[in-house]
Amino acid sequence: MIFTPEKCRIPDQRMKPFIDADELWEILNETKSDKQAVREVIAKSLDKKRLTLRETAVLINANDPELIEEIKEGARELKKRVYGNRIVLFAPLYVGNKCTNNCKYCGFRASNKEAIRKTLSDQELVQEVEALEDNGQKRLILVYGEHPEYSADYIAHTVRTVYGVKKGPGEIRRVNINAAPLEIEDFRKVKEAGIGTYQIFQETYHPEAYKNYHLGGKKRNFEYRLTALDRAQEAGIDDVGIGALFGLYDWRYEVLGLVRHTNHLEACYHVGPHTISFPRIQNASKLDLGTDYTVNDEDFARLVAILRLAVPYTGMILTARENPGLRHEVIQFGVSQIDGGTKLELGSYSNSINEAQDLNREQFQINDNRSLNEIIEELFENDYLPSFCTACYRLGRTGEHFMEFSVPGFIKRFCSPNAMLTLAEYLEDYAPANTKQRGWEVIDKNLSDLQQYPDAVNINELRNRLERVRAGERDIYF
Ligand code: SAM
Ligand code: SF4
Repeated sequence: MIFTPEKCRIPDQRMKPFIDADELWEILNETKSDKQAVREVIAKSLDKKRLTLRETAVLINANDPELIEEIKEGARELKKRVYGNRIVLFAPLYVGNKCTNNCKYCGFRASNKEAIRKTLSDQELVQEVEALEDNGQKRLILVYGEHPEYSADYIAHTVRTVYGVKKGPGEIRRVNINAAPLEIEDFRKVKEAGIGTYQIFQETYHPEAYKNYHLGGKKRNFEYRLTALDRAQEAGIDDVGIGALFGLYDWRYEVLGLVRHTNHLEACYHVGPHTISFPRIQNASKLDLGTDYTVNDEDFARLVAILRLAVPYTGMILTARENPGLRHEVIQFGVSQIDGGTKLELGSYSNSINEAQDLNREQFQINDNRSLNEIIEELFENDYLPSFCTACYRLGRTGEHFMEFSVPGFIKRFCSPNAMLTLAEYLEDYAPANTKQRGWEVIDKNLSDLQQYPDAVNINELRNRLERVRAGERDIYF
C-alpha cells in the first residue's frame, strides 16, 4: 500500500455518516499555511501519497499568488509524471427527467412547472445510442431523475438495452450511471446489468446548507445520500464516483468534504472512488438559489489543482458545463476524463432540431457545444492523446486508476497502447479525412515517445495491432 487511510473515528464506520461539519471547519480554521508547509505537502503528493485532511487544508489556505502558482505547477507535474497525456472521452445520455425531488439548482425539480418532462421509450433510447455510436462514442453515462418510474429494474433494463445496440462498427463498451441512491438489493440489480461506474454527487457536504437547497422529496435526506456508496459497496459495486456541486457552499469546505469521503471509502472498503467530479452551478430553468457561493474561474482552477494533489490516484472528470477556454486551462491540472459532443436535451442526439438550448427541456446550461471531433482536434493540438479505452473494466481489472498509479509501467504497457488502439478505431471509422491524417501522426509520435522506455509495451506488437485495426479488425486491447 502506498497510502495510509486515516483511521475511522468509530470502530466500524461502514454505513454510518462520516461528515462532521464542525470538525471540517475546525481543520480549515486552525491549519496554518506557509511556504515551507505548502512545499512539503506538494512534495508528499508528488511522492504519490494521498494527503490527509490537514495537509489538504494547508493547500486550501495558501492564498499567496506565488504559492497558488506552485500548487498549480505541482498538479501539472503530477499529472504529467503519473498519468501522461491521455484523456478519456465519454458522453452523457439523459434517459428520463421526471423527478419527485425539489433541488433548488436543478431545472428538473418537481416544482418547476415549466419543465418539459420526458422518458425515452426503448426505441428512442436505441436511436440515441445509434446516433452516439455514429459519432464514435464508446463510453456513456446514463442519467436519470429520481422518480418511481426509474426503479432499479428499469435502470438495469436501460443499461442492457444500451449494451445491445450495435450500429455498423459501433458499440458502447462501458455504461456508467448517475442515478438516485438505491437500497443494497437494488444496487445488486444494476451491478448485474454490467454497469461501469455508479456515480452520485453529494452536492454539498454541509448538512445545514444541504437542507436549504433540497426542499422536498427523498433527496432531502442528507445521510441517506451520504451513505449511498456504502450500500453500493455492500452490493459489490466497487467502482464508484463522487462529486460536489460547487457554488452551493464554501468551496474550501467542499474540497475537504470530498477528501473525507475518499478517506471513508478507503478506510472501510479499501478502495477509494474511481472518479471525482467537480461540477459548477450553471444557469437552469427559473434558477433562484437565494445564496451566493459562486466559485470564480480562478478559484475553480485552484480547487481542481488542490484536489489533484490531495487524491493523486483518483480519476478527475471535467464536463461541458465549462467553456472551452476554461476547460483548456483546467485540464492540465490533472483532469483524466472529459465529455465531448455533449447534448442534454432528451432525444437530441438523434433528433437535433433545436440547436440552441431550451432550458425547460434540460437540466442546466452547458457552455461547450463542440462536437466530439472538434474536441479531439483540440486535444491533438495540445499534445494530448484521446482515449476510448474500456479494457480494464472488461478484463475485470477494477481499481484501474490505482493500478495506473501504483504498478510500475502499467500506463506504458496498457493505458497508452490501448488509447492508441481505440483512437485508431475512431480515426478509421468516424473521423473526417484531415482529423484522420492528423490522428495517425499523433499515434506515430506517441509510439516513438513510448519506444524510449524499457518497461513499455512491446512496440512491434503494438505496431502490429495498430495495423490490424487499420485493416479492419476491431476491439483489440492489452
Ligand atoms: N437525479 C439524480 C441525482 O440527483 O442524483 C441525477 C443527478 S443530475 C441528473 C446530475 C448532477 O447534475 C447533479 O447531481 C448535480 O450535481 C448537477 N446539477 C444539477 N443542477 C445543476 C446546475 N444548475 N448546474 C450544474 N450542475 C447541476
Ligand atoms: Fe431531481 Fe436530480 Fe434534479 Fe434533484 S438534481 S431535481 S434529484 S434530477
